[in-house]
Amino acid sequence: MEGDSYKYKGQRKQLVEQLRLKGIGHEGVLEAIGTIPRHLFLDSQFDRFAYQDTAFKIGAGQTISQPYTVAFQSALLKPEPGLKVLEIGTGSGYQTCVLAALKMQVFSVERQRLLYDRSKILLRKFPYKLRLFYGDGYAGKKAYAPFDRILVTCGAPEIPESLLNQLAPGGILVIPVGAGETQEMLRISKTQEGSFQKESFGSFRFVPMLPERATDN
Ligand code: SAH
Repeated sequence: MEGDSYKYKGQRKQLVEQLRLKGIGHEGVLEAIGTIPRHLFLDSQFDRFAYQDTAFKIGAGQTISQPYTVAFQSALLKPEPGLKVLEIGTGSGYQTCVLAALKMQVFSVERQRLLYDRSKILLRKFPYKLRLFYGDGYAGKKAYAPFDRILVTCGAPEIPESLLNQLAPGGILVIPVGAGETQEMLRISKTQEGSFQKESFGSFRFVPMLPERATDN
């Protein structure tokens, strides 16, 4: 696509190999990481860092998640083509695109106007099925519920009840939970009967999920 090049494709291939070595084994996820031109999601002066496995500032005090974290969360989600997925925290839109490249139907909510506006323009360039919303992730997106998958990409102080409610039977919520410096990566699975099973996948560091009112900063 426009703005991509063989140089960046080569760098993506190396990034994919690095993620493999770090334990990411989900082929579909690795393929998506190998496809999406991450450099387009950073300010162009940082192009040369785009395929390093690090998080990066994207403005409005927020970060584009580290590729390892994007891959890890995507794999935890057990992605399958055609599933309806809600992402909380669009940010740069990179993770949004990875989910869409996995052929899921993506809905994503961002509560910072600047980032929402930016991603809205950038993601138009991609041929994917996705819808972006400006608003508060604590509320989920009731009008489009239920979702087969919900992915939270900011650190939540606790598991929002509304997200559990908007999960379809058999659905999966992946969410980093913790109010301090680090969060525990949780996967909550909803049974067909509507009860919940919780698994834990270690400690991560996310920017905090911001309080409920959306603002224009
Ligand atoms: N998935 C993003 C990660 C961005 S960091 C990426 O790949 O770039 C987390 C994002 O969550 C930030 O953009 C932040 O503004 C957003 N966020 C924080 N609290 C939120 C809330 N209550 N509702 C929706 N988005 C929120």
